[in-house]
Amino acid sequence: MKGFNPKHIRVIGFDADDTLWVNEPYYRRTEEEFCNLLQKYGDIQEINQLLYSIEMSNMELYGYGTKAFMLSLIETAVKISNGKVDAIDVLRIIDMGKEQIALKNALLPDVWKVLDTLSGHYRLIVATKGDLLDQERKLKNSGIAGFFHHIEIMTGKTEDHYRKLLNHLDIPADKFLMIGNSLISDVIPVINLGGHAIHVPFQVTWQHEEVHDNELSGYEYFTAKALKDILPVLGF
Ligand SMILES: [Mg+2]
Repeated sequence: MKGFNPKHIRVIGFDADDTLWVNEPYYRRTEEEFCNLLQKYGDIQEINQLLYSIEMSNMELYGYGTKAFMLSLIETAVKISNGKVDAIDVLRIIDMGKEQIALKNALLPDVWKVLDTLSGHYRLIVATKGDLLDQERKLKNSGIAGFFHHIEIMTGKTEDHYRKLLNHLDIPADKFLMIGNSLISDVIPVINLGGHAIHVPFQVTWQHEEVHDNELSGYEYFTAKALKDILPVLGF
C-alpha cells in the first residue's frame, strides 16, 4: 500500500456489521423463513428479487436496519400475493423481524484480542451504517464498547459521510485507517479521500454491497483473511 506507514496512523475506524460481529447471515435466515411462508404465492427467486428491488427503492426513505427490512418484507408480501396475504402471516413477518432484533450478534473470532492489542496505541472508533437503536443495542450487547473513543452511526458511507466524520474527529485523512468487510462502504470512499483501508472480507456479502473488479482498478489497500491478520500489517 503506497505511502502506508502504521506509525503515521492515529485513528483506526472499524466497521461493525460482519467486521466485528455477525450480521448478514441473520438477514439471510429471516429471508429464508419469509420465502417459506410465502411460497404459495411465488418461488424463492421471484420473492427474493421483488424483496431486493423494494428494499432498494425504500432505502432513501427508511435507511438501513431491521425495522426498514421489516417494512420491505411486508410490502413484498402484499405485492407478491396481490393483496391476498393473511393478516396472520403479516403478524408472523413482524414477529420474524422482532426475533431478529432480539438476537445477540455473535462476535467474530479474535475481535477482543485485536482491539485489546491496538487500543493502547491508536484511537479506535466504530464507523457503522444502520439504524441508531439497532446499532446501539448491538454495541451494548457486544461488551466491546469500552475499547472505542467514539461511535459514529452513519446514515451512509459515502466520501461525504467520511469527510464529515474526519472533520469532526479533527484528523487528516492520511492518518486514518478504516477496517471493514465492504469494499463499497469501508474501502473505496476512504481511499478516495486520501485515507487508508484494510478489507476483511466476510463469507456473505449483501447484493447491494457487491462490487465489480473493474471498479477496483487503481485502488491500493490490504486484504486480510481474518481480523487478526490486520495485526501484522500494523507491526504487531
Ligand atoms: Mg459491514
